[in-house]
Amino acid sequence: MNRQKITETLKSGKILVADGAWGTALQSRGLQGGECPELWNIEHPDLVLEVAESYIRAGSNLIETNTFGGNRYKLEHYGLADKLFELNKAGVEISRKAAGDENWVIASVGPTGKMTVMGDVTEDDFYKVFKEQVIALEAGGADAIVIETMSAIDEAVAAVKAVKENTNLEIICTLTYEPTVQGDFRTMMGVTPSEAAVAAVNAGADIVGANCGKGYEGMNQIIEEIRKVLPEIPIIIQANAGLPELINGESVFPATPEEMAGQNPLWIKAGVNIIGGCCGTTDNHIKSIRNAIDSGKY
Ligand SMILES: [Zn+2]
Repeated sequence: MNRQKITETLKSGKILVADGAWGTALQSRGLQGGECPELWNIEHPDLVLEVAESYIRAGSNLIETNTFGGNRYKLEHYGLADKLFELNKAGVEISRKAAGDENWVIASVGPTGKMTVMGDVTEDDFYKVFKEQVIALEAGGADAIVIETMSAIDEAVAAVKAVKENTNLEIICTLTYEPTVQGDFRTMMGVTPSEAAVAAVNAGADIVGANCGKGYEGMNQIIEEIRKVLPEIPIIIQANAGLPELINGESVFPATPEEMAGQNPLWIKAGVNIIGGCCGTTDNHIKSIRNAIDSGKY
């Protein structure tokens, strides 16, 4: 194995490139609305591998896995909870195959869809559910876990603890922020980037940041806010390709690869360490980001 830890590599000051969207990439390969995306890891592994390979070809140093909804609550919805271990492990194995020895596989863990404020789950329930998923992801050969698209601190923290206490993997934790009328950024649950970053780091996260949301604009504000309270922590940003527009019943993400890559100098100046994309970003967006970083014009 030729890989250092991600955090070790970042110490050199190098900016790393992550990957783009998985959900929209699988949809463009035929995944239907009501289908369980993770089931494709065993039913259409070739198509999932295509997504992973497209990002490695585009220049990603880190690629995610098709396991975003691989927790018990989400899989139960599809009657697939008995396949939990198999689906998560297979998802990592597919990305591992594409990543080769030099690149990292960061296994995706998304929200459960449940909230403690609704009284239907406790933090302990979150912990147990994430523990089960991340053990399966480690078994598949992941280098790190990326806990993403979170909006509640208690759920994000439970996930970080589950990884910290039950695996040997590095931990990335990102929440989804939206601009407020006051001009700052908060999650749906009202959490600020600095609050979330501090809570995640205290629970054991190695890398923090933001993903998804309302496009790529203003991400430099989120980076600056986290940098103020955590000057040394590695920061990752995986933004959406703009605000989706509904065209003929389909969500279309308007930002071009050049537009997104054009933001990179601003983010790098603010202190970002890893740049990827979320919904609507394709391998072409990742190629542009790769080129922008390699050109060193920032
Ligand atoms: Zn997204």
